[in-house]
Amino acid sequence: MEKPYLHTNGHGGCGETEALTLSAASLSEKEAQIAHHFAQIMALLGLDLNDPSLQGTPARVAKMYVRELFVGLCPENAPEIRLFPNTYGYNQMVIEKEIRVRSVCEHHFVPIIGVAHVAYIPREYVVGLSKLNRVVDYFARRPQVQERMTIQIADFLAEKLQTSDIAVVIDAKHYCVSMRGIQDEASRTLTYAFRGAFQEKEVQDTFLRMVGL
Ligand SMILES: [Zn+2]
Repeated sequence: MEKPYLHTNGHGGCGETEALTLSAASLSEKEAQIAHHFAQIMALLGLDLNDPSLQGTPARVAKMYVRELFVGLCPENAPEIRLFPNTYGYNQMVIEKEIRVRSVCEHHFVPIIGVAHVAYIPREYVVGLSKLNRVVDYFARRPQVQERMTIQIADFLAEKLQTSDIAVVIDAKHYCVSMRGIQDEASRTLTYAFRGAFQEKEVQDTFLRMVGL
């Protein structure tokens, strides 16, 4: 019987090399267990784990989960926040906009893809700008719901930057909305946290205008 998923596109030698690097020996104990269980899911779906194209998939998925998509589950991966004295007395908002959000919906394990806009008003300290991107990425790289991710980013920044003047907006597409269920490919989800001065209309309006919302 013809099984469409058995078709490979003949990627030759590079597939073999990859299979070698995906041997069980290269996996951590946790990754090996995830690979074992994912192989069972694939088998239950009727996939042939002896197929050259599929045999490395359980290990590949396990490594992807542990080393990439869900690295934010380990507190030791939280970004180090180094502050610099605000010697120049900058007291307007600092905005980092259109920060890439790549997360995974914890209800369906499919992607959440979008952007975050983050702002704070410095007091005695300023932070290296790329740290704001890293904070968003850290909280995105775990199974998430967008509402909680928004709060987590705001809480973390308020603590680390030693200011309550924090704004976080996340604007994202959820593949659990576009690929399944209602299958609405156009809609996006917006969530926000406005803390401290960002609850004042004028400050909030300035922030929203700056990020184009
Ligand atoms: Zn979902």
